[in-house]
Order: sequence, then C-alpha cells, then structure tokens
Amino acid sequence: MSKPNFPSYQVRVSPKAKRVNLTISEVGELNIVVPVGFDHRKIPEILLSKQKWIETTTAKVKAERALLCQNAKVLPQEVNLIAIGESWQVQYTNHSEFLIRELDHNQLLVSDHYPKIRHTLSQWLIGKATNYLIPQLRLVSQETSLPFCQASVRQQKSLWASCSSRRNISLNRNLLFLPPDVVHYVFIHELCHTRHMNHSSDFWTLVGSYVPNYAHLDAQLNQSRLFVPAWADISTMNL
Ligand SMILES: [Zn+2]
Repeated sequence: MSKPNFPSYQVRVSPKAKRVNLTISEVGELNIVVPVGFDHRKIPEILLSKQKWIETTTAKVKAERALLCQNAKVLPQEVNLIAIGESWQVQYTNHSEFLIRELDHNQLLVSDHYPKIRHTLSQWLIGKATNYLIPQLRLVSQETSLPFCQASVRQQKSLWASCSSRRNISLNRNLLFLPPDVVHYVFIHELCHTRHMNHSSDFWTLVGSYVPNYAHLDAQLNQSRLFVPAWADISTMNL
C-alpha cells in the first residue's frame, strides 16, 4: 500500500459541529472541524478513509488556483461593471504623471509606467463602489426603514459584505461585477442584519418580506465569484 500523502491540516473544535467535517481551502489547505469532546486520536483513521477524496479535491483546487494566478496577471482591455451599468474600455500608456484617468466616452487611461497596475485598477474600483454602491445602499436603507451607521468599501477576500454589531456595513468592491438584483439582495441581507445579528428564522422572514425570491438570489450569490474577472480577484492581489 502506498503511503498516504496528506496535505498539512489544522483541526478546529466547533460547538456547532455535529460530526467531523473536512474542507479544502482555495489554496489547498485541509481544514478539519470536529465537535466538542471529539477524540482527536481518531483523526488519522478518518483521513485514511477519506484519502481518495482528499487527494482528488486537493489536486483540483490546486489546478484551479494555478490557473487563476496565471489569468490574474492578464490586464483587462475592457471592464464591465454590470452592477452599475457601466462598461469601460482600457488603454495603457507609459505616462509617469498619473496612475489612472477617466476620459470621455468611458475610456480609462492607465499608466503602466509604475508596477502594481492591478492595484491602480483596484483603487479605481474602490472609488467606483464608494461613489455608486454606497448611495444605492443608502437609498435601499431609506426605502426599507432599516438604518445603518456607516458604510465603507473594502477588499474582503471571502465576504461580499458584512454588518457589524455597531451597524457598520462593509461592501466588497467586487460587488460591482455582479448583476443588480443580486447586489440589491446583498444590501437587503446586510440591512436586515442591523435588526437580527444572525441567520435565524426571524432574520430570513424579514429578508423575505423585502425580497420574496431571496433563496434563489442567495444561491446565485454563492456562485458569483464566476462573475469576477481574474485580474480583480482579491486573493491574488499580491502576486
Ligand atoms: Zn448574513
């Protein structure tokens, strides 16, 4: 029998877990969640029984990651911000006097004189999201009478948006790439968290009172990374 070739793994004990749960992160790390009181000596046996799944999933995740990292370096010729209905044609220039400039007719001029061009584009996206998405969120907040405290745009690797217990809402800049109805659902979802800081049935009832088809939109949101072009992927920004 060949020696099992497991990736390094970390174990987390969760009061919510009812059974052992294995997941492979997007960078190929194996995470093991176990219920409280679980006998950790059983882990090698579990890993052995799941060996095939661990190997195939890790290989698949690593291949996807390698492709993403490769594609992330390809700079865009066009940027479609479908959330706000804008499409930009991008031109690159070797100017040293500016980093990025918006011209007439949705032309974007980006300097490739300096390194980190993706960071320049990222800052531009943050500005767009701040100027367009936050006012939209404010409008939805007024329509629903669900007030929040402050809103900001962030580069969050794994969250589309979040709401703190102080009712501060953070939006991911990449929401700009998502369909408007999905973005509207995200606003409603976070605004409902200003009243229920959990995903209880009361929370979902409130969400459903504003967006009856929320289950469909939530499922769409879970697939929404596919809308984000590789160059805008936040997990590869420091490549
Ligand atoms: Zn939530």
